Amino acid sequence: MLGLGIESTAHTFSCAIIEKKGKKGKILADIKKIYRPADGEGIHPREASRHHIEISSSVLSECLIQAKTTIQDLDIVSYAAGPGLGPCLRVGAVVARSLSSFYKIPIYPVNHAIGHIELGKLLTGATNPLVLLVSGGHTMLLAFLNKQWRVFGETLDITLGQLLDQFGRSIGFASPCGKQLEDLASKSSNYVTLPYSVKGNDVSFSGLLSATKSIAQKSKVDACYSLQETAFAMISEVVERALSFTRKKELMIVGGVAANKRLSKMLRDVCKRHGCKFFVVPLQYAGDCGSQICWTGLLESQVKEGVLLKDTFVTQSWRLDSVKVDY
Ligand code: AMP
Ligand code: MG
Repeated sequence: MLGLGIESTAHTFSCAIIEKKGKKGKILADIKKIYRPADGEGIHPREASRHHIEISSSVLSECLIQAKTTIQDLDIVSYAAGPGLGPCLRVGAVVARSLSSFYKIPIYPVNHAIGHIELGKLLTGATNPLVLLVSGGHTMLLAFLNKQWRVFGETLDITLGQLLDQFGRSIGFASPCGKQLEDLASKSSNYVTLPYSVKGNDVSFSGLLSATKSIAQKSKVDACYSLQETAFAMISEVVERALSFTRKKELMIVGGVAANKRLSKMLRDVCKRHGCKFFVVPLQYAGDCGSQICWTGLLESQVKEGVLLKDTFVTQSWRLDSVKVDY
């Protein structure tokens, strides 16, 4: 089976082609272009969607060339139907619908967050993990039970990605800027006390954001270091509690913030204490990408026909714990 996946939920427009043989998937191409706002600014949905429209055909062509395939060879096309920004989601959906209707290819709407998890499982080999999904759109701890991902903890306000990006913008970077903050944080070891807010198995980051902004006036590097230490310690605490509760023997971290080395180090230590295997999605596939959508579409095609064009949809809020997983 050969699938094309299209991702366009937020800042990234990406197309990927994966060949599925049995349970194995080989990524033949994954091309992405990321919309960058001006320094100090966040994503403007209309401008991001304009970016996606302008580059969509070149990204698709490059993807087909790199995969050494043609549209006629594709067995399915899948697109990220949500959650995400409406104007951005519509671009990917329109490209997928056009290909599906013109070339008569079955079409699959895919939940973007499930995509992060399924691609993580494919690439790491984790089989039954506790999942930490940390990205621009999500901060969630999840375990799979009875055909659905169940939420064991989540953020009560902003996500970990938003915390990093909003703080980064306040010191002059453009979103997404987690990597720049990680680089600055590595230049300090001076911890300044910041609010630490864990409520049950949930976390709250908004007070931490305000407090970090105020200490950045004295030292940006100390602020970045202290922000990472505090936010990642909060995450580690809830992961540790969820591991004890669920008795899972695997922890898998996925989503853009999974690229952070300090976070991985802290979670690896937690796993050691619990005799648990630690899996982290490879850096190149941590952030949003077509492969996560493509692979999930291919998995769905094992058990479902594609949807009719009139039933394709996009939805800005689509929680992953409302999706039935039948494959
Ligand atoms: P996603 O929404 O999955 O594409 O993830 C994007 C988020 O990951 C943004 O908030 C980025 O700032 C964040 N991110 C990317 N690389 C890093 C990094 N090295 N450290 C921390 N956050 C990162
Ligand atoms: Mg994402």
